[in-house]
Amino acid sequence: MQVKVVKFGGSSLADAEHFKQVASIIQADPSRRYVVPSAPGKRFKDDIKVTDMLYACYEKIRKHENIDELYEQIKARYNGIIAELGLNFDISGELEYVKNAMMHRSGRDYAASRGEYLNGLILAKYLGYSFVDAENVIFFRENGTFDEEKTNQVLSEELSQHETAVIPGFYGVMPNGTIKTFSRGGSDITGSIVARAAEADLYENWTDVSGFMMADPRIVDNPCAIQTITYRELRELSYMGATVLHEDAIFPVRYAGIPINIRNTNAPEDAGTMIVAETPDYDTEKVITGVAGKKGFSVITIEKDMMNSEIGFGRKVLEVLEENEISFEHLPSGIDNMSIVISTDELEGRREKIVSSINRRVKPDHVSVEDNLALLAVVGRAMVKAKGTAARVFDSISGAGVNIRMIDQGSSEISIIVGVEAHEFNKALEAIYKEFVK
Ligand code: ASP
Repeated sequence: MQVKVVKFGGSSLADAEHFKQVASIIQADPSRRYVVPSAPGKRFKDDIKVTDMLYACYEKIRKHENIDELYEQIKARYNGIIAELGLNFDISGELEYVKNAMMHRSGRDYAASRGEYLNGLILAKYLGYSFVDAENVIFFRENGTFDEEKTNQVLSEELSQHETAVIPGFYGVMPNGTIKTFSRGGSDITGSIVARAAEADLYENWTDVSGFMMADPRIVDNPCAIQTITYRELRELSYMGATVLHEDAIFPVRYAGIPINIRNTNAPEDAGTMIVAETPDYDTEKVITGVAGKKGFSVITIEKDMMNSEIGFGRKVLEVLEENEISFEHLPSGIDNMSIVISTDELEGRREKIVSSINRRVKPDHVSVEDNLALLAVVGRAMVKAKGTAARVFDSISGAGVNIRMIDQGSSEISIIVGVEAHEFNKALEAIYKEFVK
């Protein structure tokens, strides 16, 4: 029989109604054997996630403020879920224990992790699955990095003892026994780790959208969902701000060659997006897989006659950035000029210093810094094969009356990066989408 690991995000477990929906999804397929829950998320727009309430408790304790009222709200969330599910389960002892432990300074990560822990207890009870505490199976090293080999060994051994189990997301344990969490949204990572340890056939990541969209729905009206995307394409789009999945969630399953399926808890009939290592298939009609972008970039342009024949020119310029601990995003260059695209935040307070260092180091004819650049990444594995894709990208942008400030195509040919003025960003993105998606 197949094994599927299913992770449910906070919005999928925000209240009893959603718990019921989650249970019906799990029960619809007996191969959904290992379940990774997040903490209860928002039930409505201005609601507060339990994780955020727990962080707030920690801050109050640190400032010697009383947490009674706030903690009552957290208790009410869990007790409300249990009551509405009609579960015969008394969680009050656990809730008291957690409150006490937080008051006795068990740390910020301990506080935050309890959202997943308590939700996991309830979900395991509701499903009739074993509860496997992440504290006993997910390990961090002394320096705080995730210990993949030890975790994989202990976790796979533990899972083999359980036909079905709930493993709370987001946290693990340090060598000294204290709790440590991954960064925010980290239950996605736990799901991926569990999938690897269970040697799963599929990692289903259930959230509140029907997969990755080809473009940001805040910019493009009702964009198409992406059916299949490779890990590499996903990296390119996520880097440009398309967020559905935690970036680090890709590594454990990628290593093991397990596909990820992004699904919508509120629309389980939708196929969602499949994230795979490689696939010969692509959408012949659309050619591109997606388009995403970000604002907030600056470009440093350096001009010097005969620059192309000056040995070490590029290295000297990049040394200036290195000495200032600045990382750059792109490096498009011509014969007598070189441009460096940098996140504008990185230049904060160091602009003058960098320009004068470049002047001193390479004696250029001219150096300038321009802000308000937005980058767009047009991503697609089919672009290598389809002729004229770049021309279509540029024509659509200029057809919309937008001026292109920069072009960069990596040699991998799975993406074309275009820089435009920030105020023309939406217009350019819409134009590209319309060109490829009829
Ligand atoms: N509950 C944690 C957060 O809000 C982790 C997660 O949801 O994945 O970041």
